[in-house]
Amino acid sequence: MNRKHLSQTKRWVIKIGSSLVTNKGQGLDQQAIQAWSEQISRLQQSGIECILVSSGAVAEGMARLGWNRRPKAVHELQAAAAVGQMGLVQSYESCFRKHNLHTAQILLTHDDLSNRERYLNARTTLKTLLSLNIIPIINENDTVATDEIRFGDNDTLGALVANLVEADTLVILTDQQGLYDRAPELAGAKLVEQAEADDPLLLKMAGPSAGTLGMGGMSTKITAAQRASRSGCSTLIASGTEKNILLRLRDAENIGTLLTPSAEPLAARKQWLAGHLRPKGSVSLDTGATKVLQENGGSLLAVGVTAVNGTFLRGDLISCLDQDGHEIARGLVNYSATESGKIKGLASHQIEQILGYIDEKELIHRDNLVLINKQ
Ligand code: GLU
Repeated sequence: MNRKHLSQTKRWVIKIGSSLVTNKGQGLDQQAIQAWSEQISRLQQSGIECILVSSGAVAEGMARLGWNRRPKAVHELQAAAAVGQMGLVQSYESCFRKHNLHTAQILLTHDDLSNRERYLNARTTLKTLLSLNIIPIINENDTVATDEIRFGDNDTLGALVANLVEADTLVILTDQQGLYDRAPELAGAKLVEQAEADDPLLLKMAGPSAGTLGMGGMSTKITAAQRASRSGCSTLIASGTEKNILLRLRDAENIGTLLTPSAEPLAARKQWLAGHLRPKGSVSLDTGATKVLQENGGSLLAVGVTAVNGTFLRGDLISCLDQDGHEIARGLVNYSATESGKIKGLASHQIEQILGYIDEKELIHRDNLVLINKQ
């Protein structure tokens, strides 16, 4: 992966921090939001799907409430965020509307993404929005979670979203030019143009104190890049105040810091799926389905399932067994064991008839499926 590949990328998660979105904490910087929206609409036009992760709700809430000083109490910050979120999404919505793009508000917590069922729900919704050419605008759900308020952690949320939708690029816009090899104010500090996200030296460069200000420092960004790299996603850390920054990054200009994954996307995802979770149950496949999975890399449909074994829920990891009982694949299942039992052997269009609803037409989508001992 190098910068030349950036123009061929397909799906970006763009994270913009509070300090950039708000006029030095005074309220929303409408001009800046306008400029990013315009760039994002051009990225969309050039075939790159964009998801925005934006902070700024607390600062906008404080401005709306006439609070000059940031409150200490977390519940007051949460209240400010609830007020300010209205303004934040209003602003993005009106800017994107000028470019004939709709936006969608999504408020997430880290827990939403570690719970397998909600993970799949969020993923399906986000992918649906992208297929409709809508720009999802994500923030932490500050009413119920306070990670960002406490740790400036929308960087991590950005990375988790990148994992969730298999983005190829995570762009973290910040108020610095990128990662420097030592504290940027020190003489001789050089911008790191490109490195592997997992390089242990990076966290040393970011400095031990980087994350202690209560807002995401450079070290949170490196950790986010490492997390993003697990699903094969590259991270760009760059200055959000540079003119046309997003377009220039896409056009491979040498600005900011590019942190690349060490493994190919598929291999990274395979590692994650195969290594991180223990299967909760299994399904036995007929020869047709075994072939579709092994030879065509297809999704698993209910029609190819002959038996459902164990107890599992939507979102759990399960094994796929061939006719001899050998595990040939594992993946995140879209239906519980009970539901799977009811729909096994049936064509996808019959799912709704039997269950009364349809989540996805596949039992396991190929993006969530990894073959065992193959590839
Ligand atoms: N998610 C919050 C926001 O959008 C938190 C940022 C902060 O702590 O200032 O403003």
